[in-house]
Amino acid sequence: MSTVKGTEEIASPLQESALNKKGLCDYVVNVASGCLHGCTFCYVPSTPAIRTRQAQLREKGVSDPQMDWGQYLFVREEIPEKLEKTLKNKRTWRETDSGRGVVLLCSGTDPYQNKQTASITRKTVEVLSKNNKKVRILTRSPLWIKDIDILHRSNVIVGMSLPFLDDVLSRKIEPQAPPPTERYQALMEGYKAGCRLYVAVAPTPPTMTLDDFKIHLEKIMCFEPEVIFWEPINARGTNGKRMIAAGLDFATSVMTKKSWAECFIRQWEEIETAAEIVGCVDRLHIWPDPELRGCVDDEAKLESWFYRRTVEKWDSFSASQTQTKSTRTVRKK
Ligand code: SF4
Repeated sequence: MSTVKGTEEIASPLQESALNKKGLCDYVVNVASGCLHGCTFCYVPSTPAIRTRQAQLREKGVSDPQMDWGQYLFVREEIPEKLEKTLKNKRTWRETDSGRGVVLLCSGTDPYQNKQTASITRKTVEVLSKNNKKVRILTRSPLWIKDIDILHRSNVIVGMSLPFLDDVLSRKIEPQAPPPTERYQALMEGYKAGCRLYVAVAPTPPTMTLDDFKIHLEKIMCFEPEVIFWEPINARGTNGKRMIAAGLDFATSVMTKKSWAECFIRQWEEIETAAEIVGCVDRLHIWPDPELRGCVDDEAKLESWFYRRTVEKWDSFSASQTQTKSTRTVRKK
């Protein structure tokens, strides 16, 4: 299928989110449906956001909305304007202990995947900041650097998915996303500019070991992220099939629940050990999976990671504090 692009309208720009379970947010804004990065492991096409809209997406020219993930994008141009109205009329704001009332851009697409989504994202962040909301950006694209002037504020934290720094491996796993070395440079640039940062070391392929985690965390600590989220690749749903179709042989080693759980537990131990060695275990935030229940020895430890608050410094942000922050000098390693 050749790439299909267009626009779409949505009734409500702001959705309540269950991602407080991962310490991420209480609300999400998705500036588009579909994502041109087309990561092979992406779980979004297996979620109701795509599964329940297959007929509608076929009408728009997408032959197989799940297997053709990465080849369609429908942007939601009206979001900033609609959000402005929504916030004006909103009387209550959900603020759970782990979600902190944060608004995430985005959970089902990349907010900075191209100039079109970046423009909607910029306007959306401006609306949210004007209304004193906490904002979390999650992207694989360095395009956010062009918006440092509005992201460099205490109510905004910018995060990038950076599971590893191997550009060759990245072309197989996340074929259309900007290479991880470019993402790393963007994070360093954001760091120097004084942006609040976090990183998602996610999802890690089963080939990564203790030494890989150690080297990776050492590099990551150069931009001092407030929190380091982690989870391994999960080959469930159509993403397993897409990984195999992309020639990723390692996916076969985590396709059964047993093998996936064993890999999860091994890498969990390894990244914790690596974080202890590097001195960043306090920033490490595990994203556990409910399917691990019954597979781990320490059930209490597993449960403790659901709905856990991150160590991010949201407490120092108050509604009147959406001011910009000062710049930093790069830490020498
Ligand atoms: S960038 Fe995110 S939403 Fe887009 S394909 Fe990759 S994992 Fe999915």
